[in-house]
Amino acid sequence: MRGLIAITALFVAVLGKETFEGHQVLRIVAKDETQLALIKNLEDMVQFELDVWRGVTDVSTPVDIRVPFHSLQSVKIHLESQDIEYSIMIEDLQVMLDEEQQEMESAARIAEPRNTDSFDFSRYHTISEIYSFQDMLVAENPNMVSKIVIGQSYEGRPLNVLKFSTGGSNRPAIWIDTGIHSREWVTQASGTWFAKKIVTDYGRDPAITAILNKMDIFLEMVTNPDGYYFTHNNNRMWRKTRKPNSGSSCVGVDPNRNWDAAFGAPGASNNPCSETYHGPRAHSESEVKSIVDFVKSHGNLKAFVSIHSYSQMLLYPYGYTETPCKDQAELHSLAKKAITDLASLYGTSYRYGSIINTIYQASGNTIDWTYDQGIKYSYTFELRDTGRYGFILPANQIIPTATETWLALMAIMDHTAKNTY
Ligand SMILES: [Zn+2]
Repeated sequence: MRGLIAITALFVAVLGKETFEGHQVLRIVAKDETQLALIKNLEDMVQFELDVWRGVTDVSTPVDIRVPFHSLQSVKIHLESQDIEYSIMIEDLQVMLDEEQQEMESAARIAEPRNTDSFDFSRYHTISEIYSFQDMLVAENPNMVSKIVIGQSYEGRPLNVLKFSTGGSNRPAIWIDTGIHSREWVTQASGTWFAKKIVTDYGRDPAITAILNKMDIFLEMVTNPDGYYFTHNNNRMWRKTRKPNSGSSCVGVDPNRNWDAAFGAPGASNNPCSETYHGPRAHSESEVKSIVDFVKSHGNLKAFVSIHSYSQMLLYPYGYTETPCKDQAELHSLAKKAITDLASLYGTSYRYGSIINTIYQASGNTIDWTYDQGIKYSYTFELRDTGRYGFILPANQIIPTATETWLALMAIMDHTAKNTY
């Protein structure tokens, strides 16, 4: 009887949640351009139901692909028959997800934090926990922090942005967003840590104090709230928005291909089932449109930093064209300074450069749009790691990741403030 109850409880807990039992993440490395093209073709073989974690870049850079259990054998045979080398990065994804879940639940049993000092930054949190963290931070720091709701997600969740300001009106400002791709959990967790760091360091650390005495900081921590909720309750691997697509059973748009910057050009997919589907039209997603409206109505943003994971890179425009942006030299040297500062803490090594030259062509992405709007210091981060855990980065790496990333952010914000008149 007890066994039956246990089994029933397990069934209820699992019901409605996609499992990834036996799914593996394969790391595939091309020997030459021919093999690279063959790997690229894999992405279009819909029967395999592959999920590209880290896409094709160049011959030397590995590609990480999640392969469902049902197609594992065929994919491996396919690769071996073409003499393409691969290794198994993640043996059984569900085992890692179970560990992650257990850790979250054991943390949840500890009493709910009553203030942001007792908030556990070394754990992953649900959207409601992050939203109550935001409200606590505002209540504790009424003179510096306020919450702005810039819009609503497709499912009606508020799009909350924290504003850090020490006065003035419509001061020049810095924007930071995390979590536009919902499964990149270390980003929302880092965003939460950044918020606390700003209020803690203001008045103590001369650099952030100088920045905040001149500029405001806007921080959107859960930029894709429907997706984030879905990763907790239905499918941990969800990346896109949750808006249905007419004429397709596949849901969601890639919010990092939905911007009006070479929208729909090569570097995005027109297939609604693709993880890089650009959507029916530019700014079709309210999560994107709300930022667009905010950026335009504010009119005085000087830096825009959009934070993703994983692969440890700091990128600047463009993604849609090989033509260097006009500030390339300055953006490049600032990126170098930022990643050098980041590495000074734990030695974490980052690559940097323009999106198209460092990863691949990506049209309709966030920072190409913000740069073309005149926001010179437009950057995208890809946080830890380089694929050992990928999107399932253990929670004990949250604080180290956020702490090292903060050094890079400070380099960018400091330079922005010093070059804003
Ligand atoms: Zn991403």
